Formats: sequence, structure tokens, C-alpha cells
Amino acid sequence: MTSTIEAAAPTGALNDLAIPVVETTTLAIVGRDARFPVRRVYCVGRNYLEHIREMKEGDERDPPFFFQKPTDAIVADGTVPYPPLTDDLQYEAELVIAIGAAGQALSRDRALGIVFGYAVGLDMTRRDRQRECGKKGLPWELGKSFDHSAPCGPIHPVSMTGHIGSGALSLSVGGVMHQQSVLEKMIWNVPEIISHLSHQYRLAPGDVIFTGTPAGVGPVVPGDELVASVAGLAPLHVRIVPPAS
Ligand code: MN
Repeated sequence: MTSTIEAAAPTGALNDLAIPVVETTTLAIVGRDARFPVRRVYCVGRNYLEHIREMKEGDERDPPFFFQKPTDAIVADGTVPYPPLTDDLQYEAELVIAIGAAGQALSRDRALGIVFGYAVGLDMTRRDRQRECGKKGLPWELGKSFDHSAPCGPIHPVSMTGHIGSGALSLSVGGVMHQQSVLEKMIWNVPEIISHLSHQYRLAPGDVIFTGTPAGVGPVVPGDELVASVAGLAPLHVRIVPPAS
């Protein structure tokens, strides 16, 4: 007997599906008409010492680690509705790595070989919920993995910009600078991030990796205009708007 689920399983014929397929999340590619289809969104936690210190939690000698956001948390149009269940929505400006080829258990020497390009992203965070989850030993999902929590700018292909791993990273709100650091301060650099992650998961084309944020994180409210910048990449402009009704 065929169950409903089996009947709906992908057969290669998309007209055989029981419910509509959600549109694939994509990002623009600088200099190309084609878009970058996003598969998974990985994030690095605690990758800058001064941010670990400002958060005042955990042991600063602990290594960075990974968490994920849902693919459709990616925001490509620069508009972030203030999310429910928080009174402390915060920005975290980050360099984003876009993966263009499969890779597993990669050495640091081979890690850059699967990079398609780089972008500027924001790891938006319900800081109040993240702190509560941390204190209770619960997963970070409520604090990190909500709708619209991953604004990301266009991807700059490596063929255009080369690899990005040094230079300034900054974030301003309403023209006032709040985060100012350099990528050299990452505890795990780009090849190390990819190598570590590829030992936990098989990386595949379309994966993006938010690489962690420096010190200077803080709250935003509807009406705020954010500009996140990484040297060598186009800045990311994001506007916080009232909650979606
Ligand atoms: Mn982050």
C-alpha cells in the first residue's frame, strides 16, 4: 500500500507534488544575470575575541562553533520587519562566504578551492531570547534562526575580487559607526572555517557561511537604517520596518 508521503515523494516530475514547492531562496551575483541559489545557511559563533568579551558569557578560550539559520531567513531586498517575541533585536555585521562546489573533510590548504564568492551579511539576533536560551542550556534557535534573520548582499565572485580575508569590517546605524574591526581578528580565518565545517557536514554548492561578528553589537528599532561594509565588497543597506501584520 502506498502512503500519502510516499506518493508525494520527489519523482523528478514536479507536477506530481501534493503541495506547492516554496520558491528557492536566491542572491544576486555582482556582474552576472544568473543568481546564486542558497542551500544552507551556516553561521560561526564567537569568532572575534572582543565580541566574546562584550557578551560576557562562556570561556574566551573555547573555540568558535557553528549554528544554522533556515535558508529562507535570507533577506535579499534589504528590508527586515521587526520580529515577534523580542524587545532586543540586534545587528551583527559579518563577512559571508558563498560555497560553489561540494567538499568534505577538507584541509585548510584545499578549503578555498570550493569558494564561489563573498558577500556582506547581518546575523540578526533576538539578544534577549539568545541569552535566555544560553542560561537554560537550550538551543539558540529562538534567538538566532527566525524569519528575516539573515540579510545578505550580492555575492562577489572570486573571479572578480579574489579571496577576501583581510581589511576593514564596519557597521553603522543612521550614519553612526558602531562596529569597526578588521577581518584579520577572526579567531578562525576563512580557510579554517571551511575546513572545520567540512568535517561536520558535507558542504555543497549554494551553502553560505556567516563568519562571525566583532565587538560593537547593539539594538535597532523600526526606522533604523543599517549599513554593513567589508573592504572590497559592496556595502549592505538594511532598513528595519514595523512588524509584519
Ligand atoms: Mn553572528
